[in-house]
Amino acid sequence: MLSQQGSDLNQEAEQIRGASVFSGLTARVRNTFRRNRGEYDFSNEVHEAMMGCLACKSCVAQCPIKVNVPDFRARFLEVYYGRYLRPMKDYLVGSLEFMIPSLSRFPAPYNWAMRNTFMRAAMKSLVGMVDSPVICRHSLRQGLRERSIDWATEASILSLTPAQRDRSVVIVQDAFTSYFETQLVLDLVDLLSLLGFNVLVAPFMPNGKPLHVHGFMQAFNKAAEKNLTLLRALDETGLPLVGIDPSMTLTYRSEYKDVSDDLPNVMLIQEWLVEAIQQRPLTGSVPQHSFKLLAHCTEKTSAAASIRQWQTLFGYLGQELEVLSTGCCGMSGTFGHEAQNYKLSKEIYALSWSEIVNSPAHKGQLLATGYSCRSQVKRLDNQMLLHPVQALLSVVQKL
Ligand code: SF4
Repeated sequence: MLSQQGSDLNQEAEQIRGASVFSGLTARVRNTFRRNRGEYDFSNEVHEAMMGCLACKSCVAQCPIKVNVPDFRARFLEVYYGRYLRPMKDYLVGSLEFMIPSLSRFPAPYNWAMRNTFMRAAMKSLVGMVDSPVICRHSLRQGLRERSIDWATEASILSLTPAQRDRSVVIVQDAFTSYFETQLVLDLVDLLSLLGFNVLVAPFMPNGKPLHVHGFMQAFNKAAEKNLTLLRALDETGLPLVGIDPSMTLTYRSEYKDVSDDLPNVMLIQEWLVEAIQQRPLTGSVPQHSFKLLAHCTEKTSAAASIRQWQTLFGYLGQELEVLSTGCCGMSGTFGHEAQNYKLSKEIYALSWSEIVNSPAHKGQLLATGYSCRSQVKRLDNQMLLHPVQALLSVVQKL
């Protein structure tokens, strides 16, 4: 339904854009006060409709006219909040990628706050966020040092021998897996190393996706430009670049399109590995195990072929991977972490995920590609799903 309203909403967004030019803080306070008193403004109805969008991008891929609701939603929010005050949670979510490297140096106070009952209640009532994740205590920096893995810098790449270059790959970090699921990144490093690749890790740069989702378009453009400078330089070395989280990685070919025409090629892991693994003949075999994949919405809608590539990869290692049919898990980035969306997020999860996750027939077999999907399963069903990379690692370790 949201998709059908696309052109009307774009018009509305343009009208608001015109008005917002003249809106300063005083005007925003006044407009917000009037709105809260019940004064009518059609843009508030549009805002309410927009807030129900999960940014799953089904409309982008599956709607016959390919209307991109998440994109015009972001633009609408930018102009809407030129007229009204933003909720505090938007600033928190938008700035998380920028703060997380500093917070991760001393994670104890942050983690204490996220676990403490009083602080959690305050986060919910004052900031509007629930169930925020905690930062991993064993940092990626430590893990890479223990494995003697280099950062992907100009100097480290220039020092590679031709033979090393041929088997090198650069992991492009994202804030969610690097800081909240560090073990997954290290497992990917271990998998690729065991397969004979020379792994380098790109220095962390904020991707900007959370800024885009919340309509901080100027800040997003700035973050994207900075990130692109690093990624282009890495891309020019000719080494393959791979990202772990599908939603964050696909940002480089969707949201970044509006920032530049000169985009680096950052692939999903499976897009690259499905070809690269053919050059690394494996010896030995492992008894076949059946795995079941719960793919991320953005991956299904924006890179559908990549789901089959997971199956090809598992098949190459003699394993079976069935792709289960599901809808959205209800987390969708930080949507489910917003207190106002918590009930809806749980209801969406109950539509297709809950039964699958709790089915005894799937025990020990389920894999999920999305960080947000794994977070949702963890908080609502207290289960830890593995990423497909971690299942592949367990197989390769037995070869
Ligand atoms: S992104 Fe998903 S939830 Fe949002 S309008 Fe499109 S299909 Fe609906």
